[in-house]
Amino acid sequence: MTRDRLSCGALRAADAGKMVELCGWINRRRDHGGLIFVDLRDHEGVTQVVFDPAHPSFAEAEHLRNEDVLRVRGTVRTRPAGTENPRLATGDVEAAIEELEILNRSLVPPFQVNADEAVDENLRLEYRYLDLRRPRMQENIRLRHRIIKAMRDFCDERGFVEIETPMLIKSTPEGARDYLVPSRLYPGSFYALPQSPQMLKQISMIAGFGRYMQIARCMRDEDQRADRQPEFTQLDVEMSFCTQEEVLETMESCMRYVWQTVLGIELSPFARLTHREAIAKYGLDKPDLRFGLELANVDAVFAATEFVVFKSAIESGGSIVALRYPGGAALSRRDFDNLTEIAKQFGGKGMVWISLAPDGMKSSAAKFLADADVAAVTAAVEAEPGDAILLFADAVPLAHAVAGKMRNEVGERCRLRDPQTFAFGWVTGFPYLEIDEESGKPAPAHHAFTAPAPGDWALIDRAPMEMRAQHYDLVLNGWELGSGSIRIHKPEEQRRIFEMLGLSADQIEERFGFFVRALEYGAPPHGGMALGIDRIVMIACGEENIREVIAFPKNQGARDLMMDAPSSVPDQLMADLHLRRAPESPSRG
Ligand code: ASP
Repeated sequence: MTRDRLSCGALRAADAGKMVELCGWINRRRDHGGLIFVDLRDHEGVTQVVFDPAHPSFAEAEHLRNEDVLRVRGTVRTRPAGTENPRLATGDVEAAIEELEILNRSLVPPFQVNADEAVDENLRLEYRYLDLRRPRMQENIRLRHRIIKAMRDFCDERGFVEIETPMLIKSTPEGARDYLVPSRLYPGSFYALPQSPQMLKQISMIAGFGRYMQIARCMRDEDQRADRQPEFTQLDVEMSFCTQEEVLETMESCMRYVWQTVLGIELSPFARLTHREAIAKYGLDKPDLRFGLELANVDAVFAATEFVVFKSAIESGGSIVALRYPGGAALSRRDFDNLTEIAKQFGGKGMVWISLAPDGMKSSAAKFLADADVAAVTAAVEAEPGDAILLFADAVPLAHAVAGKMRNEVGERCRLRDPQTFAFGWVTGFPYLEIDEESGKPAPAHHAFTAPAPGDWALIDRAPMEMRAQHYDLVLNGWELGSGSIRIHKPEEQRRIFEMLGLSADQIEERFGFFVRALEYGAPPHGGMALGIDRIVMIACGEENIREVIAFPKNQGARDLMMDAPSSVPDQLMADLHLRRAPESPSRG
């Protein structure tokens, strides 16, 4: 007889007769008619181990509990006819116990590890090691590993060098708040944790590396959302002497390689849209391209309307945007009222609906709609009998934004957002500046290192808001996967952009002096991009939250519940770091 240590997913009928050794956790223990069955689990599968009452280990087996850790030796045998388990890869066999060694005991877990049932997320995060034992989480984290490996393989093949950049740096502006680390050696001074390695990867180009890549950790102190974490991981790349087209080709090929090697899916060429087209057709700069339902601007139809909602929108320079709801004529007035509420939650003033019902047109604005108006709107969105049309009248670009969010909602309700379909697209030609939501001031739509579109420098004094940027985004299924740009490589141009953003010469020197100086020593033209790995893996796994694909994430309140961070630190450490506690905060010895 041979004896092998095997994984718990390995045994098949052909192994019958072998003596094997298995190690793992108890997935489940059952007492059945005198026999004890233990399902032993590791990351590769589950094997049934059978304890016969005649065997000396039977008494110990009676006290085994879920999640205890065992090493067993047993003889493989085929299960009695009719007791096979077709849901298990090892379901044709079982191991009859020869030797039992209890390697460790487990407390009773606070939730079932062996079932994929809904568990409060905070509890899962507090006991993350148990949560990660569950097959779905094992698969997600392993898929993440394979995706990152494929990215590295691809980049290596294309001549990229992985360069690690430091965690303790000077503040890098990516538009978020920095996490700061107080310096012990320099009282009152701080390092910042990188919001991204942006300036360092550009300096790597100035340093002559040609092609840089990094699986980079980025830290941004932002409010949490489903797709955000205080720290996240990017595939960060930078290339010298490249055109925008070369960056797009490289990143598109990288994604195609990842999908092909990891998921076995051949992607078709990525859609291309300008920012203007994206807003006009889909209302948002991260359109979900899995389905059509293109928006239509119907200002012209209502140019002479007496309907006050439309009239006032048009008179104040706003727009009326129409969206088709396939099959929407089946909705009740109450359903339409609910949709109107949703439009308000999206920030809109409201919504007008038209139902193309078989028994005649109905509308929340029926009195004001001539047959010709309905016909024109119907034609604009290519609606058919049985559909509904939703109309949003608001300021520009709010009307498009609300319609765009509603388009995603309608896509969801009409089951047009198949998670197995992957619709990638490039959005290019972004405006250089946008109005920052918090400050109300113009700020770069990407970042201050982005080059304006060729020819648009001329607008910098006259009409800066009209400048376009050499900035591109990659979108997938309604998510922004990442952004990049061709960079400014001339020091005087970089200073000019900082000045436009309101920085004085002293501020430029203080914050970016080192960087502008590096540009002064022969910086090559360069460009690059960063893709959010957490989002990519989330979509590839069919998950809806990035915390499902990060081994040790923070919760929605930015807390690490397992380690209990952030937490207070001893007073001595505070003193070493020259920090004083605010009077109301708790102290610890
Ligand atoms: N640093 C940018 C970001 O993190 C990406 C880039 O421009 O390459 O979004």
